[in-house]
Amino acid sequence: MAEKIKLINDDGLRTDGRKPDELRPIRIEAGVLANADGSAYLEWGANKVLVAVYGPREAQPKYLQDPMKAIVQVNYNMAAFSSEERVRPGPNRRATEISKITAEALENVIITNNFPRASIDVFIEVLEADAGTRCAGLTAAAVAVADAGIPMTDLVAACAVGKADGQLLLDLGKKEDNFGEADMPIGIAPRTGDIVLLQMDGDMTQEEMRKALRMGMDASRKIHELQTDALRRRYAVNFADMDDGEAVQ
Ligand code: UDP
Repeated sequence: MAEKIKLINDDGLRTDGRKPDELRPIRIEAGVLANADGSAYLEWGANKVLVAVYGPREAQPKYLQDPMKAIVQVNYNMAAFSSEERVRPGPNRRATEISKITAEALENVIITNNFPRASIDVFIEVLEADAGTRCAGLTAAAVAVADAGIPMTDLVAACAVGKADGQLLLDLGKKEDNFGEADMPIGIAPRTGDIVLLQMDGDMTQEEMRKALRMGMDASRKIHELQTDALRRRYAVNFADMDDGEAVQ
């Protein structure tokens, strides 16, 4: 049984001073790795995540190939130094699960039918972890896939909504994740509003769940703006390189 600590103060603010429906600060950069086909770097509160995308390229080994569409393979990895306690290197159950659900979320928006027998490989490296890394990884991965020029119907913006001290909270921090009553990571395709990732740990009533989904939807719109802004900045710089080296404002 987890120890009980107070997560909302008498003014209704959280341990890091946020309001219940407030996101941590998010910063996204697209195209940060020269050797990848697409890439993104994201800071989300104290989380730091780097994503590299390769492909579409021939899926290897061949038995993995789908003659009708590309497969999406994700490798989520926490760096050994990403947490207060050393993270054991190599795959584990949690990393395998997060890789799987991230690939499934991205398959909803990547136009895989265009690339039979191909693989789109997504490497998510968590450099610093502070709760919400699956959402941070998926959000950054969507930008990196777009940066690779892979056709998509939409991006994916993800954020967790949870519950602590009986109150719904957007974008759980580490203490809220550890000591709260529920954690529900949500991935949304912002243009269509389709839910492409939904997980749940803990308990919520039906009404709380409805409200949590609405909070997730609102957050996804804000995150989507940051994603498109990162992609716009990336292409503005490219045009400048072709021109006279001055960044286009
Ligand atoms: N965490 C850690 N070491 C691990 C797994 C998790 O330090 O091996 C921390 C990390 O800060 C992570 C948090 O626990 O962000 C919550 O993990 P969870 O499995 O809920 O996934 P996340 O919230 O990162 O998507």
